[in-house]
Amino acid sequence: MESIKRNVLLNPGPSTTTDTVKYAQVVPDICPREKDFGSLMKGLREDLVKIVHGDLEKYTSVLFCGSGTINIDVCINSLLPEGKKVLIINNGAYSSRAAEVCEYYGLPHINLKFPVDETPDLDLVEQTLKDNPDIGLVHTTHNETGTGILNPVRKIGQIVHRYGATFTVDTTSTYAMRPINIEEDNIDFLMASAQKGLCAFTGLSFVIGNKKIIEQSRNYPKRSYYCNLYMQYDFFERTGEMHFTPPVQTIYATLQALKEYWNEGEEAKWARHTRVFNAINEGLDELGFRQVIKPELRAGLVSSAIYPDDTNWSFEKVHDYCYERGFTIYPGKISTTNTFRLCALGAIDEGDIKDFFVVFKEALVSTGVQIPVVYK
Ligand SMILES: *Cc1c(COP(=O)(O)O)cnc(C)c1O
Repeated sequence: MESIKRNVLLNPGPSTTTDTVKYAQVVPDICPREKDFGSLMKGLREDLVKIVHGDLEKYTSVLFCGSGTINIDVCINSLLPEGKKVLIINNGAYSSRAAEVCEYYGLPHINLKFPVDETPDLDLVEQTLKDNPDIGLVHTTHNETGTGILNPVRKIGQIVHRYGATFTVDTTSTYAMRPINIEEDNIDFLMASAQKGLCAFTGLSFVIGNKKIIEQSRNYPKRSYYCNLYMQYDFFERTGEMHFTPPVQTIYATLQALKEYWNEGEEAKWARHTRVFNAINEGLDELGFRQVIKPELRAGLVSSAIYPDDTNWSFEKVHDYCYERGFTIYPGKISTTNTFRLCALGAIDEGDIKDFFVVFKEALVSTGVQIPVVYK
């Protein structure tokens, strides 16, 4: 097996993959309606539930062909009962996306906004549920990937359940990285895609959640044809297949990625992401960069650094310098502050970050940015 040029992706997914995962896509052509393929999917669906410690009697996973946003669409449009409202607990770009999904479907919703650098005010969340007994679905984001803030989903879920609503959490940027226990974390539905924590490829996304609620949703209004959770679940249960063509090669890669996940182990993998994250923060601190999110609120996977006040600073130039040398950095996703992000998602370790900062520092020096960087 010839090794493939390795790029260190510090963007928030897709993430750096191993060569074994890359090569797992190269398989003989197969029709996904063959039994051989169906049996692969059964194991895959169970493994996805096991990653979040879900009891297979109570929880299941439903696969979709699409990037991660398809999961937000599916959960919101499929899990809202007739006559009920959605509550979005929103402190960042990905929860705003869920609010947009509500707008596009014309669903009644409350977009409860909080500052992007603070966790939601739980008293206000509770008061909103108390004042609006017609809230049937509450949605938030675990790690707001736009900033890297960690939301207290376990506490939020406790409140949501006290008011009898369903709780969906966008865990796309924590799943298979930061340990999650779906039941203990009071989550009814969570979601992710193969190209982030699992370190496979884009094209396979999945919703993991409570079977009973999916069964109930059978009678909820059908708002989408392609993105209906119950329809896809029911087809899987009856036939073992996806309703429409699955991303065949991505599924092979994901199966290999799952092998590598179990070989490394949940604890060791999280320890590795933490090492990478710490190395990123040390590197940024050393160069004097300020960050948006206070250390105690960080989810441990995404660093959001603020642009220095230096007329020579050019994200583009620094990006291009690093990119040409195999390192990809990424712009931020906050409308009010100019930031860039460095993420600890992929099949990388602290050595890669040490190598990155050598290049990053060169990029600053060669573009004439003062070190340590300055702020007004
Ligand atoms: C990456 C990500 C998504 C999905 O984005 P796509 O571009 O559709 O893959 C959704 N939510 C969060 C929190 C993410 O980090």
